[in-house]
Amino acid sequence: MEMDNKKRRRSMFLYVIIAVALIFAIQQSASLIKQNSIKSVSYSEFLTMVEQNKVKEVNLNTGTGKITFADGDTSNKDANVQVYETSLFPNDDGLVPLLQKHEVKFSAQIPDPSNDMWLYLLLSYGLPIGVIVFFGWRLNRRMKKAADGDDPSMNFGGGFGGFGMGGLGKSNAKIVGEKETGITFADVAGQDEAKESLQEIASFLENPAKYTEIGARCPRGALLVGPPGTGKTLLAKAVAGEAKVPFFQISGSEFVEMFVGRGAAKVRDLFKQANEKAPCIVFIDEIDTVGKRRDAGLTTNDEREQTLNQLLTEMDGFDNNKGIVVLGATNMPDSLDIALTRPGRFDRRIPVELPDLAGREAILKIHANDVKMEPGVDLSVVARATPGASGADLANMINEAALRAVRSGHRLVSQEDLVESVDVVIAGEKKKSTVLSEHEKQVVAYHETGHAIVAASQKGSAPVSKITIVPRTSGALGFTMQVDEDEHFLTTAKEMREKIAVLCGGRAAEELIFGEATNGASNDIQKATQIARAMVTQYGMTEKFGMVALGQQRNRYLGGGSELTCSEGTAENIDKEVQRLVEEGHQTALEVLRAHRFKLHEISRYLQRKETVTGEEFMRIFTREDGFAPNLPTTQQ
Ligand code: ADP
Ligand code: MG
Ligand code: ZN
Repeated sequence: MEMDNKKRRRSMFLYVIIAVALIFAIQQSASLIKQNSIKSVSYSEFLTMVEQNKVKEVNLNTGTGKITFADGDTSNKDANVQVYETSLFPNDDGLVPLLQKHEVKFSAQIPDPSNDMWLYLLLSYGLPIGVIVFFGWRLNRRMKKAADGDDPSMNFGGGFGGFGMGGLGKSNAKIVGEKETGITFADVAGQDEAKESLQEIASFLENPAKYTEIGARCPRGALLVGPPGTGKTLLAKAVAGEAKVPFFQISGSEFVEMFVGRGAAKVRDLFKQANEKAPCIVFIDEIDTVGKRRDAGLTTNDEREQTLNQLLTEMDGFDNNKGIVVLGATNMPDSLDIALTRPGRFDRRIPVELPDLAGREAILKIHANDVKMEPGVDLSVVARATPGASGADLANMINEAALRAVRSGHRLVSQEDLVESVDVVIAGEKKKSTVLSEHEKQVVAYHETGHAIVAASQKGSAPVSKITIVPRTSGALGFTMQVDEDEHFLTTAKEMREKIAVLCGGRAAEELIFGEATNGASNDIQKATQIARAMVTQYGMTEKFGMVALGQQRNRYLGGGSELTCSEGTAENIDKEVQRLVEEGHQTALEVLRAHRFKLHEISRYLQRKETVTGEEFMRIFTREDGFAPNLPTTQQ
């Protein structure tokens, strides 16, 4: 370790020497060029040179009062020509006759020494700067590597301070300061509870006297907790905007990217700036990257710990009533160090959840204000079709729709643009380069129709709103969309079983019609298994295990499943239960599709022809009495 360390230092020293030598050499050669390029002489010297026939070419510029002349032919690139410069003597009537007498080529146009000039500037300033930046960058990277490496206590901070390192290191962390965010709570749709919580902080910052008179203290920090894209940053900015105070933003990951000790220094720097501008909001995004729980053991990270300690010190240190409020954002609240969430620090936890139906519609409305919509566009259709979408997803959909409108040469965004943009955000752009063979197209059509028929024949399933077999850039060759009329907050065991059956419907149709399976169902299988596993391990929905939690949920904001917390024997039985549940769904699907075999054929053919079928079209064919339709089977419970 010690040797390694020395080696690194030595090679870095070498870099510095080389850099300095290079800069010196470049500056020498640059000044040579400068000397070479233009020589200043007096007017009398110029006249003497003309008399001695040394001057071959003269350029008079009465505008600038300069004469530039050369002792050779400047148009001959190979000749070694020296260019001179002197000041034009006022009213020298004898000059032109003199030049004519000595057969000097003359004109009123300046030979262009600017080529050399540029080279000179580039060499004498540009290159050295380039060299410094390059070597600085190399050094920086090496140091960073060293800091990230196996010996976190290694500290390179001291020795190279003189070499512009401080400056380079500093520009690494972006503290984004805004005097006015210009964002208010009106820009945030839904999230009423979060807004209410933050409103108090905003009004304190706006009018601290009102609170301090009574003796109320301003909360120092609040933690915005929720999945990505739900508007945490937006809310933090809105607090600053409402209170009309400056907003400082930095991401937690930027603290830990730097060398040992740098993160802590940056925290100090951040709070120093905030102190000067108080009252203000300090927003630390991804606070989990610095604030991760410190666990005893060998895996400690000195750098992160130093940074965290500094953060805690700063938060304890600043004067409560000065009006610095620290807002943190994270989607991993459970991994935060408890010291961070103690009273007086981030003692308020504000959940920022995915929007519900009404919230989605409100978010769409806010973003629809930014684009020109056709009158009569119904945003609620989009809101209903997008359960689970975040605010950022929805904002993105509106933008996609606007882009689509422009692409198709329209001046207003239409309902169709919106509906298509939902598909794009859910399943990716239509992919024209994927050309399916007739047989493949047939398989996909039966597969999707299988899903749709199983869904339609079950009471608890959401109505089918669209079936399509247009390949998407996400890799999907088609999809069936189901949209609920309204929102559910509880799901029954029966509904989950039905859902599994719907997911099995694609594969079941393939088996029934073609007698063999394709790899097209892998996503369905994954989802079905996930539901079945959750039923067994989290929701206590099987008789075999009853109401026992067999797993522990992983991060719920990042879509994590669960980790098993049971014995190996139990784990084996869980697998068997999961298999049983999925197989049950598979059998149900086969049964439903056998019963609707004719409809399966009819709708698949229709789908192959049309490529996209709406929910209404589908239901019209599916429910039409044509003598063949058998009774709807009663599905297994
Ligand atoms: P987070 O910080 O939670 O990841 P952001 O605040 O960065 O999410 O949100 C990203 C974008 O999504 C915002 O700039 C905004 O356009 C949009 N958005 C998210 N939530 C909302 C909301 N509740 N109201 C309006 N727009 C939202
Ligand atoms: Mg954010
Ligand atoms: Zn499928």
